[in-house]
Amino acid sequence: MSNLLIRNVRPHGGAPTDILIRNGKIEAIGQNLQADGLAIEDGRGHIAIPGLVEAHTHLDKSVWGMPWHENAKVATLRGRIDFEREKRLEIGIDPHRQSMRQAILLAANGASHIRSHVDIDTTHGLRLMEGIIETREALDGIIDIEIVAFPQSGLVTRPGTVELLDQALNNGAEVLGGIDPCGIDHDPKGHLDAVFGLAEKHGKPIDIHLHEAGELGAFSMEMTFERIRALGMQGKVAISHAFALGAPDYLRVAGLLEQIAELDVRIVTTGSPSSTVPSLLRLKEAGVKVAAGCDGIRDTWGPWGQPDMMDRVRILGMKNGLRRDVDLEHALHVCSTGGADVMDIAGYGLEVGCNADFTLLVGETLAHAVVEVAPRPVVVKRGRVVARNGVAEVAIP
Ligand SMILES: [Zn+2]
Repeated sequence: MSNLLIRNVRPHGGAPTDILIRNGKIEAIGQNLQADGLAIEDGRGHIAIPGLVEAHTHLDKSVWGMPWHENAKVATLRGRIDFEREKRLEIGIDPHRQSMRQAILLAANGASHIRSHVDIDTTHGLRLMEGIIETREALDGIIDIEIVAFPQSGLVTRPGTVELLDQALNNGAEVLGGIDPCGIDHDPKGHLDAVFGLAEKHGKPIDIHLHEAGELGAFSMEMTFERIRALGMQGKVAISHAFALGAPDYLRVAGLLEQIAELDVRIVTTGSPSSTVPSLLRLKEAGVKVAAGCDGIRDTWGPWGQPDMMDRVRILGMKNGLRRDVDLEHALHVCSTGGADVMDIAGYGLEVGCNADFTLLVGETLAHAVVEVAPRPVVVKRGRVVARNGVAEVAIP
């Protein structure tokens, strides 16, 4: 919890002003605020926005900073899952060290919050999650980390997984994950009943990976909607990827979007360049809360991705064919305030009374800042400068 006066910044690209922070919260925004002996930071006229939100990643998977991992596997989803589960220890992917690297780089690039799915399976038990919890504690005051207990390898097809997820929710996971009820477990009723049963027992929200495309994904979504209605879980369920919403059948997708908006189901997109993805502008028009994430970066699944949410804003912009300034601003919104809406982050925002979690951006306007590839000049977390010019104040292991 820190005190700081940051002078000459432009909130959301507006007029230059100062931001006064006391005890980690924004106390005042205005011109020529008095410092009273506080530390002063010169914002040099840069844009200020609330912290970027990485709402879908896998901190337990990256090989960032390790020797190059040669990817030479069969390109099926099941093949990637099994390879990672069986080889990750042999490869040396230490979940604590690797999550430290990724989380610190995300913070250095302006992120203030992370939602990370973490594998829970019968081979590794809770070991991977324990590594991420260690990182969460080590980075307290640098970046906030929320953990999704994620049955990556399947749930009903791997006996013992439900019990492990139950333990994970008791031991520090805030959210329960799920994955492709048809595509992975081949048992949509069994999978969804187990997920919703556990979530209800623990009173936790759900964030389910749904890669299933087209009509199969629509079917899994409708089974999910049925359970939300039956259990009164409106506003408690997020669907990650939701590739079925990228289907070309306009009216079919419209019917799904109507139910998603009605049930306050949140959508988390990665803007995956190689998949059909939900349209950001259609989701906006339907009034759906939308967040974004980089998903796994440089892991055994694939070599792509950067630990930088501004990189993801650009991917979303290109994938969605965005050109107008107002639409580029919306892509940035999805990667900041949209993430806070989806994750229900309390005290988020660049207003008096909010937590002093923000980043400066280089650009004349927000749209310019989206396309300008430049390090973040200053990143502030709870009133403390945690990075300057893209370099974290804390050492990367
Ligand atoms: Zn994922």
